[in-house]
Amino acid sequence: MKKVLVTGGTGYVGSWVTRFLLEAGYDVQLAGRNPNNSKKHAALKEIAQRSNGNLTVWEADLLQEGSYDQPMKGCEVVFHIASPFSIKVKDPKRDLLDPALNGTNNVLQSVNKTDSVKRVVLTSSVAAIYGDNADMRDQGLEQFDEQYYNSTSSLMHQPYSFSKVCAEQSAWKINKEQKRWSMVVINPGLVWGPVIHKHSQSESITLMNDILRGKFAFGVPSLNFGCVDVRDVARAHLLAAENNTLQGRHILVNETLSMFQLTKIAARLFGARFKFPRSETPKWIMIAIGPVFGVTRKFIRRNVGYPIAFSNEKSKKEMGIEYTPIVSTIEDMINSLM
Ligand code: NAP
Repeated sequence: MKKVLVTGGTGYVGSWVTRFLLEAGYDVQLAGRNPNNSKKHAALKEIAQRSNGNLTVWEADLLQEGSYDQPMKGCEVVFHIASPFSIKVKDPKRDLLDPALNGTNNVLQSVNKTDSVKRVVLTSSVAAIYGDNADMRDQGLEQFDEQYYNSTSSLMHQPYSFSKVCAEQSAWKINKEQKRWSMVVINPGLVWGPVIHKHSQSESITLMNDILRGKFAFGVPSLNFGCVDVRDVARAHLLAAENNTLQGRHILVNETLSMFQLTKIAARLFGARFKFPRSETPKWIMIAIGPVFGVTRKFIRRNVGYPIAFSNEKSKKEMGIEYTPIVSTIEDMINSLM
């Protein structure tokens, strides 16, 4: 039974990775901040009971040096998934950059001290590839692929994206300073799909809950995202650990959708039950009222109304990912949240 460590295993993405690892018979060390929070662990413990794998829960914090030393002992693979995915934060350095960057450095320092570790799978994001949708036009591109790094985000503008690019670049630097362990990076687009439990701060779940509660009933911003199913992202993590030929970064995006297209699919499936938006809010209104809702004018100017596109060729050719149809992703997500 292969022993592996998962950080962020209580989260939306991490709980699916943990589930698939348990079902595949791994000995999973789940390291997180609240080992006694039964709400976040109950579903995974139940999955562990009916699968071939083992689950051990440890206390560890991204912000504490050496926190992962003990749980990592004897592990062959480390899945570093933990990182806050929040858009509205009070203090971007404290709430986003420090846990993402210092947390990644701390986890990888433990990896450097743990001889048994041969592979690290790091959950990055397409946010580490681009900052604003307008970047694609500014860089003269038709689509983003794995060679690009976000160069337009900062603590003041798109701090979540900034935290992800800083963390990923630091991870590559630490990886290249040694030869024992290899690293594969997963760069998902906006993740949708069913939840294993609902106790997560993930922006994916917040946004879908906002849509279902009718927050956008009077209109959605014209925002385009690369979208992907959480189960495809989790499968990619396991493949990254198991297939030694995989190297480098991997964009995980099924297709690009606007928020309006996404809510139209949801309305076709669940129309009568929720107040879905009927139109897109014009950009000039967004610019006028955005700051009242905590969205900066710079964000609106550089993102609303711009197309975005990604190449998912590497994930299909090298990993063999067959993407879940987006309609099933949305249907399964809303059913699970209901
Ligand atoms: P999530 O549900 O909020 O999960 C975040 C995880 O990070 C939780 O398990 C949380 O643990 C852990 N964490 C946060 N701060 C920590 C700290 N100081 N010490 C230890 N653990 C800490 O969010 P998610 O959507 O699953 O995101 C997981 C990863 O996927 C992140 O790296 C995110 O950037 C990446 N990602 C997500 C998306 C998306 O659309 N959801 C897209 C691309 C990439 P607690 O249980 O203790 O809070």
